Amino acid sequence: MGTSYFGHQIFNCYAPETGNIKLLIMAGTDQQKEKYLKPLLEGECKAFFAMTERNVASSDPTNFETTITKQGDGYIIKGSKWMVTGIQDPRCKFGIIMGKTTVNSKSPFTEQTLFLVDTQHPNIKILKPLSVLGYDEAPNGLGEMIFDNVYISKEQMLGKEGAAFAMSQGRLLGGRLHHCVRLLGLTRRSIDTLLERGQRRYHEGKKQKEDTSYQEKIGKIECEYQICKTMILNAAMILDSLGGRHMQSLKAVSEVKVAIPNKCQWINDECIQLFGAQGITTDYILQIAFQASKSVRLMDGPCELHKKQVARFTQGSHMFNELVNVNGYIANL
Ligand SMILES: Cc1cc2nc3c(=O)[nH]c(=O)nc-3n(C[C@H](O)[C@H](O)[C@H](O)COP(=O)(O)OP(=O)(O)OC[C@H]3O[C@@H](n4cnc5c(N)ncnc54)[C@H](O)[C@@H]3O)c2cc1C
Repeated sequence: MGTSYFGHQIFNCYAPETGNIKLLIMAGTDQQKEKYLKPLLEGECKAFFAMTERNVASSDPTNFETTITKQGDGYIIKGSKWMVTGIQDPRCKFGIIMGKTTVNSKSPFTEQTLFLVDTQHPNIKILKPLSVLGYDEAPNGLGEMIFDNVYISKEQMLGKEGAAFAMSQGRLLGGRLHHCVRLLGLTRRSIDTLLERGQRRYHEGKKQKEDTSYQEKIGKIECEYQICKTMILNAAMILDSLGGRHMQSLKAVSEVKVAIPNKCQWINDECIQLFGAQGITTDYILQIAFQASKSVRLMDGPCELHKKQVARFTQGSHMFNELVNVNGYIANL
């Protein structure tokens, strides 16, 4: 599925929907499941997940400034979110937003809550569309959103108050793995596209594939690819067998999040170099695979954060002490 840029869209298995589906299954009320989960599973609509904010370092969720304040029987959302994937798609009917409901709670990690919002609300506006390295990312177009005193009922709360961070951690675990799987699929396609070209391109009277420096590079590329594949399979197996709340699962997914996009970026860069100028044009998939590698290094928490995470897990079992239970969700603070 990942070898196609839009295969996951066709199979209704893409970001941020898969994570949103997971959250709704995990924490949605019966009414929420009927109204939001069902059409999402049927592929009848799309949904956004709005967490990141332009003005604060969003790798740290305690920085988010959007407020969701209790008013009467409901809540008022005030703030802005950006890098919101999918918001430009007309099929995007609703979304999940994270905002601060509690100030000065016991821990800064329990101040944020998730809410479901309908995109068609008059006080929700797309301030501007965003491109990614020059791409409009259709049909998944990103955007910056304004929530200008958006009133929502208390029934729109997803999960428990203060549980947003812990719930998002659960959502992102599978999401990170999916991103890496899809990226590796695209990277395979880049390699195969290069291999095909190597059979018909001539340099100094020889086919490119017969050149020893080319062969050496292909060997290195293939080894790196196989390392990625094995790491992903390993993480998927651990996650499948131990579940998302086990320390080994958190560690394995962070390892993948650090290693795969980095290696894929290198592989795709090498592929483009060996392919020649056409590799950076939109004629071929290689530049999309390169762009996707760069994006995955940043999304769902940048690699640097996950390197630290891996280090903390590697340094010892004392990490168990830092896994805390927030309203029934296990969070690794
Ligand atoms: C293509 C794409 C799609 C996205 N889609 C969505 C979406 O749908 N919804 C959404 O909410 N967000 C989305 N994001 C945003 C993404 O999750 C954030 O960009 C990411 O969390 C990083 O936040 P930031 O950009 O504010 O970087 P910052 O937090 O400002 O970090 C900048 C850099 O500082 C370094 N850094 C940060 N923290 C640490 C640390 N703890 N230790 C060491 N170094 C550190 C890293 O090098 C990092 O790249 C998307 C991003 C991309 C690229």
